Amino acid sequence: MADDCLFCRIVAGEIPSDRLHDDDLVIAIRDIAPRAPTHILLMPRRHIASAAELTDADAPMLGRLFAVAADLARQAGIADSGYRLVSNVGRWGGQTVDHLHVHLMGGRAFEWPPG
Ligand code: AMP
Ligand code: ZN
Repeated sequence: MADDCLFCRIVAGEIPSDRLHDDDLVIAIRDIAPRAPTHILLMPRRHIASAAELTDADAPMLGRLFAVAADLARQAGIADSGYRLVSNVGRWGGQTVDHLHVHLMGGRAFEWPPG
């Protein structure tokens, strides 16, 4: 656990969250400030600063994370209409919390490219 990391504290249960999934590798929570009707954050339990820090050794975690995302999308009823999975990296990428997370957003149409 990284000191001063908001998402590490959420993983540890020190900060409350609306948890939709929890296993040995990843958790999923509802975003506190949703930007779409469905807005879920998936993250590894282990502190990884961003997608830029991933290595081959993280393959099992990433496989799990994307499989859970697909499950949650089905549960949310947005699988057929489609949805967006995005991970912001760094300042210009729009990352505000430096613990790797993937946004699962759906329930409305999105523009491409994103703003
Ligand atoms: P990013 O800007 O890509 O780093 O995404 C960070 C996301 O974390 C934003 O969508 C925030 O709304 C969300 N967020 C910040 N604090 C919390 C929290 N305590 N619980 C759930 N989501 C949060
Ligand atoms: Zn962390």
